[in-house]
Amino acid sequence: MPNIYNLFRENSKDGLDFIRAPDGSTLATYEDLEVRSARYANRLSRFGLKKGDRVLVQVEKSLESLFLYFACLRSGLIYLPLNTAYRLNELDYFVGNSSPKLIVCSPSNEGLFASICKRTGPGVKIQTLDSDGKGSINANLGNEAAVFNDQVCNDSDIAVILYTSGTTGQPKGAMISHGNLAANALALHKAWGWTRGDVMLHALPIFHIHGLFVATHLAVLNASPVIFLPKFDAEEIIRLLPVATVYMGVPTHYTRLLASPGLSRNACRNMRLFTCGSAPLLPQTFIEFKRRTGYAIVERYGMTETGMNTSNPINGPIKPGSVGPPLAGVSCKIIDQEGNETPINEIGGLLVKGQNVFSGYWQLPEKTAKEFTSDGYFSTGDLASRDADGYISIVGREKDMIITGGLNVYPREIEAIIDKMPGVDESAVIGLAHSDFGEAVTAVIVKSAGSNTDEQTIIQHLKNTLANFKVPKQVIFVERLPRNTMGKVQKNVLRGELKQ
Ligand code: AMP
Repeated sequence: MPNIYNLFRENSKDGLDFIRAPDGSTLATYEDLEVRSARYANRLSRFGLKKGDRVLVQVEKSLESLFLYFACLRSGLIYLPLNTAYRLNELDYFVGNSSPKLIVCSPSNEGLFASICKRTGPGVKIQTLDSDGKGSINANLGNEAAVFNDQVCNDSDIAVILYTSGTTGQPKGAMISHGNLAANALALHKAWGWTRGDVMLHALPIFHIHGLFVATHLAVLNASPVIFLPKFDAEEIIRLLPVATVYMGVPTHYTRLLASPGLSRNACRNMRLFTCGSAPLLPQTFIEFKRRTGYAIVERYGMTETGMNTSNPINGPIKPGSVGPPLAGVSCKIIDQEGNETPINEIGGLLVKGQNVFSGYWQLPEKTAKEFTSDGYFSTGDLASRDADGYISIVGREKDMIITGGLNVYPREIEAIIDKMPGVDESAVIGLAHSDFGEAVTAVIVKSAGSNTDEQTIIQHLKNTLANFKVPKQVIFVERLPRNTMGKVQKNVLRGELKQ
């Protein structure tokens, strides 16, 4: 498959809506996507940008930023979206590391990027784009031609660099190719049974694989309208569910939807599919959502470096707590410390291989080589097990595993029990340095409103349920758990805050 944009164009899209506002009005048709992305692509080439040049983009979610993204694909430029939360030090690193030819930022950050570029070297063009989609990047854009000759790209040409969250050390730029994106979009399109009438309700950020690749690519591939929300708002989602058929969220979206009395079977009457990922979906959230709406959330698993690897099947059986079997074209292996495949239901390191898997980290060939096995599998850094039906369960990150007194403890097992206890909203189990045990199992818990549960009740319950070495040495109650924008609990932040 050449330039992925050709794949998006394959389905006839004449007269169809691309982006809808929450009030139902059409903000852009698929014809607009074609024309606007061509105009942006012509502008980028007038700036002197050439295939393979990096375009670093740190802007709020807007329709225009989507057009710019598609223009980069069409031009063979490498799109490099950044989380809007990043500040000076982080931005300095990203600019220095990726050497972009063009930076597109919010007007308020223009000066900041200019000062960074003074340090990192000349020759970087800076343009602006605000949350309303206005800025220097598209001033008089109508003067640019409405057609563009798409750059010919190979499967292996890099389309996007996404920086990993960098919980250990500096963030690494994952190089994702046109071929990776196409393979993953096609596999998910089939697995999730997309049909012509589908309408996507989009409330995810678009600087991450979930919102940009999974949600946006699939809608475009399917020529579906996207109801484009600037951010997640439970009441707004519930209000709009009746005019949508597909919703993709992170686990916190679902817990917040459940917290609203407006979530009902009636609100979901036209829905076809709810998917969830980026962090583990608690079985009780799955069960409660099914009870309230009649829908089984389809949990899937993926990561920046690989796109999506597994998904529960849409027509069941869906297993709560599992991320389902590998998607078509993806091969998963679970291995022990010696590199041998583990037996059914035993935990090991998860390796993946397939067209979806990235080609490596930007300018880090040695780091890249370390993460791949000699037979081409990528080591995800996740611990997982596989059941007799081939369904995979993610146990947690390898680096979050606790070794206490020489024994391995998997936090997720303990969290699952604590989260089911009365008076508990959620929990995170971490290892804190301990002079005797090496690491001490520590439970960090958010109580539910009005709860009077205490450390002793929690520990006593765990003692009755788990082997002693897994029982937390300490319980710490907090107001909330630190999470990143994708809803992932940041255990490294917790460990840093709580270390003695
Ligand atoms: P990111 O690269 O930021 O998308 O993070 C990828 C990581 O998120 C994976 O390596 C997993 O640790 C975690 N993750 C993603 N989806 C799931 C899921 N459904 N269940 C558990 N963990 C998940």
